[in-house]
Amino acid sequence: IPHTSSPLLAQLNEEQHRAVALPPEHALILAGAGSGKTRVLTTRIAWLLQTSQVSPGGILAVTFTNKAAKEMKLRLQAMLPVNVNAMWIGTFHGLCNRFLRAHHQLAGLPQTFQILDTQDQLSAVKRLCKQFNVDEDRFPPKQLQYFISGCKEDGQRPGDVTVRDDETRRKVELYQLYEEQCQREGVVDFGELMLRSYELLRDNAHVREHYRRRFRHVLVDEFQDTNKLQYAWLKLLVGLPGEGSEGAILAVGDDDQSIYAFRGARVGNMADFVREFQVQHQIKLEQNYRSFSNILDSANHLISHNKTRLGKTLRTDQGAGEPVRVVESASDFAEAQWLVDELRQLVKQDGFERKEVALLYRSNAQSRVLETALFNAGFPYRVYGGLRFFERAEIKHALAYLRLMENPNDDTSFLRVVNFPPRGIGARSIEQLQDAARAAGCSLHDAVSATTGKAGANLAAFVAMIDVLREQTEGLTLREIIDLVLDKTGLVNHYRAEKEGADRVENLEELVNAAESFVTQEGFGRSAVAMTQGGSVLTQSPASQGLSSDAPATDEFSEDGVTMSPLAAFLTHASLEAGDNQAQAGEDAVQLMTVHASKGLEFDAVFITGLEEGLFPHENSMNDFDGLEEERRLMYVAITRARKRLYLSHSQTRMLHGQTRYNLKSRFFDELPEDCLKWITPKQAGFANLGGNGGGYSGGLGGGGGWPQTPAQNRHARPAWGQSSLSTETYKSPPVPVQKAAPEHGITAGKQVFHTKFGEGKVLAVEGTGADARAQVNFPRHGVKWLALSVAKLTLV
Ligand code: ATP
Ligand code: MG
Repeated sequence: IPHTSSPLLAQLNEEQHRAVALPPEHALILAGAGSGKTRVLTTRIAWLLQTSQVSPGGILAVTFTNKAAKEMKLRLQAMLPVNVNAMWIGTFHGLCNRFLRAHHQLAGLPQTFQILDTQDQLSAVKRLCKQFNVDEDRFPPKQLQYFISGCKEDGQRPGDVTVRDDETRRKVELYQLYEEQCQREGVVDFGELMLRSYELLRDNAHVREHYRRRFRHVLVDEFQDTNKLQYAWLKLLVGLPGEGSEGAILAVGDDDQSIYAFRGARVGNMADFVREFQVQHQIKLEQNYRSFSNILDSANHLISHNKTRLGKTLRTDQGAGEPVRVVESASDFAEAQWLVDELRQLVKQDGFERKEVALLYRSNAQSRVLETALFNAGFPYRVYGGLRFFERAEIKHALAYLRLMENPNDDTSFLRVVNFPPRGIGARSIEQLQDAARAAGCSLHDAVSATTGKAGANLAAFVAMIDVLREQTEGLTLREIIDLVLDKTGLVNHYRAEKEGADRVENLEELVNAAESFVTQEGFGRSAVAMTQGGSVLTQSPASQGLSSDAPATDEFSEDGVTMSPLAAFLTHASLEAGDNQAQAGEDAVQLMTVHASKGLEFDAVFITGLEEGLFPHENSMNDFDGLEEERRLMYVAITRARKRLYLSHSQTRMLHGQTRYNLKSRFFDELPEDCLKWITPKQAGFANLGGNGGGYSGGLGGGGGWPQTPAQNRHARPAWGQSSLSTETYKSPPVPVQKAAPEHGITAGKQVFHTKFGEGKVLAVEGTGADARAQVNFPRHGVKWLALSVAKLTLV
């Protein structure tokens, strides 16, 4: 093995070292959490480049999120002077986008095709349903969207789907119509990026050959969560042994962290990979560098309860560290309150940085209570998984204008802003325009010229505005373009005039900043620039020289010189970012996210909240074997995010979907090694013991919380907080007296409440009961509003 003395390798243990310096053949690293898989993958790229085994242009690496791709590039840049943009590093979607841009003609797409994120896709489906009078009770648009995405993930076009009943027949018909609509409008959804890129490689032997010669090293992180289509795509891209290709795949993964089966991930891809690619090198990494052993042993012990495992061991040299703290609360409110107190202590006394602390939960819905408590306490926090920046309405409006400038046929964008800000174009005129477009088989933009009357004039003015903007912005910087568009379209003024528009104006300003930093980071200049720059100063391997001379000099092989305007590149970036479900680096704030979103990340301290039967493990997966095993893997992922300190927390009652639920503590507690745990609140056998014998129970943090109990619930209530034999280190808040016989929601006139959008307000009146209950609330910043309690997210302050 050449160059094993490189300083790059000095940071690695023996197994990692061996993995990094493997010969250029297919290999699989199968190893547990925190064993350095991602580090090995990154170091291998650096080592291959440094030892001149490949040029940057010969590297393709797949990461799970855009953020991970960015981080990998930064790390590489820090390791050696290399042009990271010459390498293809990104998510499957990001890389497929790059392929399709380079070969848009072969792929049958306009050069300026736009990407639909999940939201856009749903509105496109809804529009289709309306147009074809689909009975939305029988075929809810969300379900159709799910069906279409599922087909694409399986590599199925409408003609490939097996039709057994009328319902499927109708769905397939709509799938077909949806495809036609997207094609007409020049847009692609996430699934389409992948599928079309796959078909491009499948159907064009010369393209395939070209990339097989080019990419000598293909590296895939989080391989356990690849789906069927992604694996098929890799097979086409690299070629199986015997197909005369020379590229080598390095796949790294952990079967115990496969958590996307519900979205089509196939852990079986690992075994298939070993068999089909005749993998000679399988490496195990057994040393964990992330966590202290109390944390690691907990994870190992838990996951050993799974039956379907490939089997691995994981140890650490770091010593036991602190015990894993287990906390029980009386209610979700008490849990949240305890969390806030504990967080304060972590930061103030124990010296943890806020951004190094994560609050994890199984379902997004759990974040609200936590947010309310953090918000009220003035504790900086950041939530992931809710609406991301590029998904906010005002940002989508701005982007829609920009997209229309790039691609006038993008009907989704057209409809979004044709009358926003309002310019006197009514629903009826838009309907007529849609009819005309349908009849002529053209886009809405093109159909405008056929309209007449006052509505026609307004529509024509709208189209003219876009066309003028396109001309006016030519040659401007991205920042100047966005500034001009925000101004000329009236968007900023519209929000300025709105009473609640201040936040939105701020977000629009943030869009300009986002564009600015995109330009700096990606190195985009004033005019159109090459999206990738081939070659590198660092190495001149035969691989890179072969590339340019072999490649036919036709347009379709301009992949190293794809020119894309900064605007087009920015719009692509925005759509792909909107599809990412992972945390972004941010200000010094505690991080709230689902366990799914935490994959691959690490924090000094981690709280796993809501560890209750039905919640985690989730009720949808509790009754089947595979589901439960996936929940356990999810728990394994959660535990292994922690470096130094881990808290496990559960609550006896919880408000979910408008109902108070009494939950047993999660079965996962019984699957953890007792000697690693420290029960901050006294250990209970579970809530099963509580109800029947009427009060043999003591313990748990907090009492009552914000939600007074109904008399019926009080029958099962335990003694108030003050009577419990609580041995807490940290909990200092006084007990809250339990109110009796108030309405279940506890919201009455005069109370202060909190709403996630409107903030704090005072209840003026309450009407109705049960599902019909509604409250009139005065929000100082937003005025008086009537809110249905079954829908509005109101919590008592
Ligand atoms: P996951 O399964 O969660 O994705 P992973 O296997 O990819 O984890 P990494 O994130 O690469 O693990 O590494 C975990 C931590 O251990 C990182 O902080 C990394 O820098 C550190 N680390 C890895 N290898 C070593 C080593 N040889 N010496 C010191 N630290 C290491
Ligand atoms: Mg990793």
